[in-house]
Amino acid sequence: MDKSLYEIIVCPSCHGNLEKAKQADKLVCRFDRLVFDIDEGIPVLLTEKAEMVTQEAMEALL
Ligand SMILES: [Zn+2]
Repeated sequence: MDKSLYEIIVCPSCHGNLEKAKQADKLVCRFDRLVFDIDEGIPVLLTEKAEMVTQEAMEALL
């Protein structure tokens, strides 16, 4: 996906910026510690589908 597209995508929960995970097709909200899947190039921006992770797990992704 185009990098600029990530810059306009915001967290559906806090409306903050999301960061692309380094090794996986996932987007991360640092504020909520939510991890959103990217399904075939399309981010799944639903809080009920997101995974809440620990601080350590989140740092490992970024
Ligand atoms: Zn958020």
